[in-house]
Amino acid sequence: MEGRIERIKDQLHSASYKLTPQREVTVRVLLENEEDHLSAEDVYLLVKEKYPEIGLATVYRTLELLTELKIVDKINFGDGVSRYDLRKEGATHFHHHLVCIECGSVDEIQEDLLEDVEQIVERDWNFKIKDHRLTFHGICHRCHKEDEEQ
Ligand SMILES: [Zn+2]
Ligand SMILES: [Zn+2]
Ligand SMILES: [Zn+2]
Repeated sequence: MEGRIERIKDQLHSASYKLTPQREVTVRVLLENEEDHLSAEDVYLLVKEKYPEIGLATVYRTLELLTELKIVDKINFGDGVSRYDLRKEGATHFHHHLVCIECGSVDEIQEDLLEDVEQIVERDWNFKIKDHRLTFHGICHRCHKEDEEQ
């Protein structure tokens, strides 16, 4: 975790930002909950446990800054809530999500898998792809299993 924080600090520095204590607490909360997809409100509540005097606006601005610097990605799973997702180190494109329509769980696919599609889009639409969002909606392996057991 410390190495990761150091690298995020460097990313901020190279964009002329400082890793203030408020920003660092926010980054730590994101790292500690890397598997989750937290809303600004969720992040705020967790940050507040470590740094009670922090305000929602500060947390919100930090999340926006981290999004701008591509340290986190903002994603919406269709419930109208923006969620913040740490970008995996070294990933040039955003990872994919599997959203279960039964239990609401969100799983991640880290492999890009889209190289062929990207090639076609770039060639046939003369479109330079910078990133993408791919969310699959369906029934997860846990819910599948329950169906089989019944
Ligand atoms: Zn994710
Ligand atoms: Zn890709
Ligand atoms: Zn499920």
